[in-house]
Amino acid sequence: MTRPLDIAPVSEWGFFPQGQMPLLIAGPCSAESEMQVMMTARGLKQLGVNVFRAGIWKPRTHPGSFEGVGTPGLKWLQKVQKELGMKVCTEVASERHVFECVKHGIDMVWIGARTSANPFLMQEIADALRDTDMPVLIKNPVNPDIDLWVGALERINQAGIRKLGVIHRGFSTNEKILYRNEPGWQTAIELRSRYPQMVFFADPSHMGGDRKYLRELSQRALDLGLDGLMVESHCDPSCAMSDAKQQLTPEDLGKLVKELVVRKPSSDNQEYREGIDQLRAQIDVLDENLLFTLKSRMAVSEKIGRYKREHNVAIIQTSRWDNVLADMVEKGKAYGLGQKFIEAVFNAIHDESVAVQNDILADGKE
Ligand code: PEP
Ligand code: MN
Repeated sequence: MTRPLDIAPVSEWGFFPQGQMPLLIAGPCSAESEMQVMMTARGLKQLGVNVFRAGIWKPRTHPGSFEGVGTPGLKWLQKVQKELGMKVCTEVASERHVFECVKHGIDMVWIGARTSANPFLMQEIADALRDTDMPVLIKNPVNPDIDLWVGALERINQAGIRKLGVIHRGFSTNEKILYRNEPGWQTAIELRSRYPQMVFFADPSHMGGDRKYLRELSQRALDLGLDGLMVESHCDPSCAMSDAKQQLTPEDLGKLVKELVVRKPSSDNQEYREGIDQLRAQIDVLDENLLFTLKSRMAVSEKIGRYKREHNVAIIQTSRWDNVLADMVEKGKAYGLGQKFIEAVFNAIHDESVAVQNDILADGKE
């Protein structure tokens, strides 16, 4: 069930220059030294980036990896605020991190993918944020569970935080894929449609895991209508103490952003409006036809159910269904329809059909 969230639109936060599209948050994976922070921030400021990110406490897979400089690094972020007039943000994963950020006047915090997957930590962070006016961005949890993500948003929102947004960074997977994380864009689309008023960033750096994928993933995020990007940028990526492969210099980030094509949410152009209205009308008719076909198919399923009951035959004959599915996949291919899609659609139809037949069999027992 979707409970409404009480959200302040990002235009009211005063963080991003008016009209900036995509909204940009950039900075190193980790703050490493005052010099690295200042050099990177200066380069980004020149590009028109107004919101600087840097990890102070780093969640690392193995102990002994660089775990961030900790609280002393917050002073460097204060220097970025003071000298460059940028807003600064960092990741928090505990109550202590929140208190340190509040004490040091950090402008915004984000919650990482390992933390948003943990309701205890989310509640602890929410309680620590209560009575602050801190904007909070929540990354998707490492596992593709939209409810866990929604629950994290609800906890922070219920603590009175209205400047709330999300960052989609993809999901952990054991499968061998091109990217570091499985994009799972459909989860982002689903969340976007539940909370259309909430600012939505993509993090192509952690999704791709390599700077060579940044362009395609950033463009995909914009094509899907997301509002902004959080990108890792380092003044000298080859020397970065974490995530070296996926960071790029501010200069290269500038080139990348220039090449991105920004899509408009809609268009006032008369020809476009008429064209899209016609196409949508066609879709509406086809959807109604689909409904009618599904209803007719279910009616036949019911007849089959009664017929099986009369003859005392089990509901599922797996080999029959395997053959039907294989046949549909083959025919679907001829129509240019992908295997995954056909399997998902027909398995859903089959599941419902089995449920209908089960009900008929259960009725017969009474
Ligand atoms: C980060 O942004 O530096 C980070 C650790 O990201 P994630 O939580 O997406 O892994
Ligand atoms: Mn990183």
